[in-house]
Amino acid sequence: MNKKIEQFVNLFEAENRKLNLCKFGDREEFIKRHVMDSWEAGQFLEDSRKVVDLGTGGGLPGLILAIEKPDIEFTLIDSVRKKCDSVDIMAKELELSNVDVVCGRAEELGHEMREVFDAATARALAPLPVLLELAAGFIRPGGLFIAYKGSKYLQELEEAKNAIEILGFELEKIHHYERVLLIFRKTKSLSSKYPRKNGTPKKRPL
Ligand code: SAH
Repeated sequence: MNKKIEQFVNLFEAENRKLNLCKFGDREEFIKRHVMDSWEAGQFLEDSRKVVDLGTGGGLPGLILAIEKPDIEFTLIDSVRKKCDSVDIMAKELELSNVDVVCGRAEELGHEMREVFDAATARALAPLPVLLELAAGFIRPGGLFIAYKGSKYLQELEEAKNAIEILGFELEKIHHYERVLLIFRKTKSLSSKYPRKNGTPKKRPL
């Protein structure tokens, strides 16, 4: 296995003991369920130079994709300071010069880092309508949004119809593996109304 991935698993296990970032289980299980899962989106980032990972938690999928794609610049965002500090430590230990960690809420940062990313990723952050609103501000028109989802993706897509329309996304591809990646294309520039203020996307999904 990639040496850096092995090193990541060691680092994550140690950080996880302090912070309880996710259910670690045994090493094989963690690699299958979290590492290989995170790796899956890399193949769709071929044309991207700058990518943002929203709600990265302990660096999933952000750190894995940064190892997989060393020529892409990654910005990893989470609202919890302790998690950001952990991810920063791991990125430094892994000598990943293509990783920048930013602590803050996607609702606010989505206005500050406006439409500068070629792609955004998110795993286990929110239901699809909420997720699309949180991601839309970051992505340039023509860019991609990749959502890691599970078996209920069809229902989520149904519930996200309105959000997809309002935010100007188009579903480009449904990629099946052990789970599902929903790949959206952002077709136009986003109205400055979105994302709405902290907590509103979740409280009142589009
Ligand atoms: N992507 C990781 C973590 C998922 S848990 C994984 O797959 O394991 C969701 C993470 O999103 C948490 O770490 C939480 O702190 C963060 N988060 C939740 N709402 C957020 C928001 N509005 N802006 C930024 N981060 C958020």
